[in-house]
Amino acid sequence: MAGSEAAWQAANMGVPVVIHEMRPKTGTFAHRTGDLAEMVCSNSLRSDDDEQNAVGLLHWEMRAADGLIMAMADRHRLPAGGALAVDRDAFARDVTQALRDHPLVTIEPGEINDLPAEGHWIIATGPLTSEGLGQAIARETGREALAFFDAIAPIVYFDSIDLSKAWMQSRYDKGETEAERTAYLNCPMDRDTYEAFIDALLAADKTEFHEGETAGYFDGCLPIEVMAERGRETLRHGPMKPVGLTNPHQPETKAHAIVQLRRDNALGTLYNIVGFQTKMKYGAQTEVLRMIPGLENARFARLGGIHRNTFINSPRLLDAQMRLRARPHIRFAGQITGVEGYVESAAMGLLAGRLAAAEILGRDLPPPPQDSAMGALIHHITGGAEAKTFQPMNVNFGLFRPVEGLKGGRRGRRDRYKAYTDRAKSAWRDWLGETADLIPS
Ligand SMILES: Cc1cc2nc3c(=O)[nH]c(=O)nc-3n(C[C@H](O)[C@H](O)[C@H](O)COP(=O)(O)OP(=O)(O)OC[C@H]3O[C@@H](n4cnc5c(N)ncnc54)[C@H](O)[C@@H]3O)c2cc1C
Repeated sequence: MAGSEAAWQAANMGVPVVIHEMRPKTGTFAHRTGDLAEMVCSNSLRSDDDEQNAVGLLHWEMRAADGLIMAMADRHRLPAGGALAVDRDAFARDVTQALRDHPLVTIEPGEINDLPAEGHWIIATGPLTSEGLGQAIARETGREALAFFDAIAPIVYFDSIDLSKAWMQSRYDKGETEAERTAYLNCPMDRDTYEAFIDALLAADKTEFHEGETAGYFDGCLPIEVMAERGRETLRHGPMKPVGLTNPHQPETKAHAIVQLRRDNALGTLYNIVGFQTKMKYGAQTEVLRMIPGLENARFARLGGIHRNTFINSPRLLDAQMRLRARPHIRFAGQITGVEGYVESAAMGLLAGRLAAAEILGRDLPPPPQDSAMGALIHHITGGAEAKTFQPMNVNFGLFRPVEGLKGGRRGRRDRYKAYTDRAKSAWRDWLGETADLIPS
């Protein structure tokens, strides 16, 4: 996804590109063919609504930039209501053919096993990056800056949390500043709610592990439902321990268990539920998590999951131009940068391709505007996200700077999303204008 789009964008700016693709000679557990841009699971690019949905807005921005992935998705679109579903085989075949036909693109089959010492490179090898290259990246970045699995705890929009039940406090009021002493949101549970919650966890529908997703990640990041299976009290002694916290709404009552949420972005619009990585199916997850007092009306920016996924700690390792700080001739793009999803991956490829080509042509492009969907996402992974707890992210409106003067909460949502998408389109058009002279029409 990302590599195809990056190559297309750079080649259209007049820069010759070589794509190195290891398939079909070296396969992965999820890919079936040797085509570029193969969709490994669902055949959907999700919502195509560019006024009310952040993914739809990314579609719009990629179309405005003459993106190859969107052009081929539109050509092979299947009926799917508001979603953009595609005929996956025809889609991948035509992406591959368009790149083969491009006079400035060469496709060289074969695996890359090391970080190249010179030239301009974009590494877009995805969640299933081959082992050799993964090891080479780990040697360069340090092992702790490269993950092989994601263990994602659900992320909640701050404005959907009921603050008449939840409160802000760090355990034992730890911290030097007031901001640190109130860094967590706490949701208290009495005994009956806790017992019902455990029952629901045990009964919930869970996703099976894929082949290749072995139990290596079980050290230190057990799914909550597995903890519950080990004993009904396990969670109360783990992520739900009720110590060091006092509920200001009911100071006399000691909570039986407490769920903590931690700020997930600099804007303070997103909070993750601490230690709540889970393999529950999405429907079940929403239902079970809304049993937590304070989260009855929670809206989720993303739900939890555990997957095989190679990704780097982008907030630490990449600059705003997507370059490896320590070796700036190498850029990263796609899922390996810590975005999640076909669309987000292709979007990061589009940016990397343009930024690399501009640099080769001797032009310094400003980073994409933070108000566009592209800019919000790249800003999050290269700076806005907390490096210490960095986990892959979908595009969502929680990554956008608030628009001043609009109503918060559920009621103001339509107007707010329209304002975000209007502002994003205008910012993105302006940014594209910066390269307009580099792209022959
Ligand atoms: C099992 C699974 C299911 C997923 N399902 C979905 C889904 O339903 N919807 C969704 O939106 N997202 C899904 N994703 C997440 C993600 O969006 C896709 O994996 C997406 O394809 C990522 O795009 P990418 O360009 O970063 O990587 P990819 O599309 O995987 O492209 C990376 C390419 O690099 C090649 N490669 C790897 N290592 C090397 C090497 N050393 N040398 C040369 N080539 C190499 C690979 O063969 C591959 O062609 C899924 C991921 C996985 C693992």
